Amino acid sequence: MANGNFQLAILRWYEENGRSLPWRETRDPYAIWLSEVILQQTRIAQGTDYWHRFMRRWPTVELLAAATEDEVLKEWQGLGYYSRARNLHAAARQIVANGGFPRTYEGIRALKGVGDYTASAIASIAFGLSHAAVDGNVYRVLSRYFGISTPINSTGGKKEFQQLDDELLPHDKAGTWNQAMMDFGALQCTPQSPRCLLCPLQESCYALRTGKIEELPVKEKKLKRRERFFTYFLLQNNGQTAIRRRGSNDIWQGLWEPILKEEPFPKEETEVKHILTHQTIYARMMAVKAVDSDLPEGYQWIDFSDLADYALPRLVEKLLEKH
Ligand code: SF4
Repeated sequence: MANGNFQLAILRWYEENGRSLPWRETRDPYAIWLSEVILQQTRIAQGTDYWHRFMRRWPTVELLAAATEDEVLKEWQGLGYYSRARNLHAAARQIVANGGFPRTYEGIRALKGVGDYTASAIASIAFGLSHAAVDGNVYRVLSRYFGISTPINSTGGKKEFQQLDDELLPHDKAGTWNQAMMDFGALQCTPQSPRCLLCPLQESCYALRTGKIEELPVKEKKLKRRERFFTYFLLQNNGQTAIRRRGSNDIWQGLWEPILKEEPFPKEETEVKHILTHQTIYARMMAVKAVDSDLPEGYQWIDFSDLADYALPRLVEKLLEKH
């Protein structure tokens, strides 16, 4: 199916199956923005109640801005993720201070708590601006239908899906398109058991044809970072200190370092946090007077003044700068 037919099928499906939601009856940007913020982490049924409550109590952005933060937080109670409420309130004040609701994508995107997706949704639904709003639903529908296996949580993936949705977006119906894709993903092409048998796209859907519904969309597994705790002891012995060369089966192979003890300590005691690709190192350093000249295996005495001649890991340099 060509892109044009995909568009038509989605729009037609939406006409027949789209949800009727109270904020879809209005072009008031405030009402639409409020719905988007509430629905960011909340199911529609619960979100609808809260949306009505907010609209009854504060029917305009000016009234919301005039409320206290406590009043807004109280009304928000039960929805969780309170930073959303705080941002909502701060943004209401931003809007009033700027003389009204912003009418451009950039202006909307600059509001507190508004990301790319929300800005696109508001810009297209309230003002008919041509911006494709790509959320989890859109990733799922596009990756299944077009057979795109680029991970949706990778930088490349985000770009690719955004680009595709930008191309598909009918410029005269941007708001309708965004809502149609959202509903299609939420009701038809659901994460589990999508309703393929009743789907208008079934004949040309890549995932259905190839049996890859379970595999799409692809999400990159984020490697769990390993946490390590390094305590360095900077021995002091008549102008000398002890270092060793690091071995070959760990990071910083061949570099030099003071006496190291690797053992967990409270994170608050960290002096330098060092982030590597797959590990985070919490490090601290202690200067200690040497009581005798015996050293653990592998370490050797050197003059303090020569320390700078040895290749040290950047982490050790940072710790030394602090001592
Ligand atoms: S056929 Fe199934 S997987 Fe393909 S778009 Fe329709 S609901 Fe989604």
